[in-house]
Amino acid sequence: MSSEPSIFERIMAGDIPSEMVHEDDHAIVIQDINPQAPIHLLIIPRIKIPRLADAEVQHQAVLGHLMLLAGQMAEKMGCADAFRIVINNGVEAGQTVFHLHLHLLAQKRFDEGALASPF
Ligand code: 5GP
Repeated sequence: MSSEPSIFERIMAGDIPSEMVHEDDHAIVIQDINPQAPIHLLIIPRIKIPRLADAEVQHQAVLGHLMLLAGQMAEKMGCADAFRIVINNGVEAGQTVFHLHLHLLAQKRFDEGALASPF
């Protein structure tokens, strides 16, 4: 794992500004700087797990926390009835920041097909 702090760690440290929606002991939620939908949040664990595929059993609780937060953030944003969670894993899948994060996307039409990507 890179010892360089990820962009998200720098945001958590306050070195880079962001529009913070939520923070707690285990995760932060920020507005994506380049939104792909009217609602586009990033749900980010404080611990740096580079990719979902790097998660281990010891991360089970924090992974569960991220999923619960996704539902809570959707409620908070008023989109609990229609939202999508995306995790890009690996360069070929479009991952650009190697610090695990969930994209929460909403208020965009998702009807191009069951698996159509909002990106
Ligand atoms: P990925 O491509 O790794 O799945 O998603 C990374 C996301 O982080 C992208 O949607 C990108 O717009 C967002 N992002 C990258 N740098 C920053 C930043 O400095 N601030 C915020 N708020 N979002 C960022």
